[in-house]
Amino acid sequence: MQLLPALVAGKPLLSDRSVEVTNPSTGQVMAVTVDCGPAEVALAVESAAEAQPSWRRTAVAERARVLRRLSQLIERDMEELGRLESEQTGKPLAQGRRDAELTARYYDFYASAVETFYGTTIPLNDSSFVFTSYEPHGVTGHIVPWNYPMQILSRSVAPSLAMGNCVVVKPAEEAPLTALRLGQLALEAGLPAGAFNVVPGMGETAGAALTAHKGIGHISFTGSVEVGRIIAHAAAERLIPVTLELGGKSPNVVFADADLDRAVPIIVNSILQNAGQTCSAGSRLLVQREIHDELVARVADAFRAATVGPALSDPTVGPLITDEQRERVLSFAALARQEATLVCGGEALRGGDYGDGFFVQPTLVDDVAPDSRLAQDEIFGPFLAVTTFGTEQEAVTMANGTDFGLVAGVWTSDVGRAHRMVREIVSGQVFVNSYGASGGVELPFGGFKNSGYGREKGAEGLRGFAQVKTGVIGL
Ligand code: NAD
Repeated sequence: MQLLPALVAGKPLLSDRSVEVTNPSTGQVMAVTVDCGPAEVALAVESAAEAQPSWRRTAVAERARVLRRLSQLIERDMEELGRLESEQTGKPLAQGRRDAELTARYYDFYASAVETFYGTTIPLNDSSFVFTSYEPHGVTGHIVPWNYPMQILSRSVAPSLAMGNCVVVKPAEEAPLTALRLGQLALEAGLPAGAFNVVPGMGETAGAALTAHKGIGHISFTGSVEVGRIIAHAAAERLIPVTLELGGKSPNVVFADADLDRAVPIIVNSILQNAGQTCSAGSRLLVQREIHDELVARVADAFRAATVGPALSDPTVGPLITDEQRERVLSFAALARQEATLVCGGEALRGGDYGDGFFVQPTLVDDVAPDSRLAQDEIFGPFLAVTTFGTEQEAVTMANGTDFGLVAGVWTSDVGRAHRMVREIVSGQVFVNSYGASGGVELPFGGFKNSGYGREKGAEGLRGFAQVKTGVIGL
């Protein structure tokens, strides 16, 4: 199998180590990329540093034009990118296509956002003229997970490039293929060679080398809490800013006055989308006692009706990313059998149509104690834990009762309660009678507590890649 090189200074770069990429729908190796180490990462950072001064001086309208062109090229290649994303991650084909669409949108959105992103003047006194301007960080590092590779890469790369930074991207070793394609499209769009570098490889090699490199002025990390801590320490050592987009254990809180016809499909999708391997997955269902039986029965029906299969057959639920991740989900199903009520699922699906893919049944677990690991740990699979509450205050306590605070959904027809819940839930996003806003490129996103710090997406996302400079002219 051909070894896929890194993309550095607009050219392919090989290294003497490699990593296999496995298609989770088949369990077979589908590609091999280089495993970059300190030497390759250093070349990438140097090439970005070389490209950055002139990219920064390029007129904003021209930077925006290039980013819009990149957006158009992604739209042109949408089918190819969507399929590749689907194959390497195992996500259903329709979701892969949707991810490609949202990826294109990021470059378009930040092209527009940066064109209206200005500093201010400050009326200090009669003898000074004071103004602020936004400055780029220089070279930014982007460490990306495997679950939404193209989208997550682009939600930080697009604003960074728009602000006049140049980037070095370290994609996840499990799913680096679309990042390499995006790097090539960036060149075709007219970004200077060296503005968009991609260094595939393992976290401990390529990721650690990128984090440690002295030429990096800002790091965007999306991934696990455990690795987030390592990155935060490394950034603290070098005193550079870092955005941490980490895990979640997000609740859907359903009150007895909710419209269940509207709620059920959205709640089910919030946990089955991408086989539950979504940071913002609605992985806890908190239900008011009066409607418990009806809601659990309806969700169970939907879980049983969900199709499971290879990504390109476009099922409801594709495989998990690795066999190891499937074993983790099955270990939680075993825990559920001991200490809660397994309503449906909980088994691996092997052989026959499933071949050697990493499939598991959608799993619904009831009677979960709020302090159980089933309610506390991010499982990252099609696995929903149900807990019952009585009062609104109990619902708030349960919703806030984990170490995470990324997203929450509230289902009620009482407008006062809706506002109280949005106010009381400690979380980066709170949705009422809705969940996820279809990707929401425009909506600031990020965590409270162990879900991380800093915000990406929306106009807020641009600020993360800018530093404010204050200029004072004595008159
Ligand atoms: P991970 O932390 O294992 O890996 C993420 C990235 O970090 C990968 O590219 C990996 O190679 C790299 N990495 C690993 N060790 C490293 C090190 N020592 N130094 C530098 N880089 C290193 O996470 P994952 O398993 O790929 O992704 C799943 C996790 O990501 C879940 O916890 C999920 O909730 C989280 N996530 C969060 C968001 C969000 O926006 N908040 C979005 C998607 C995923």
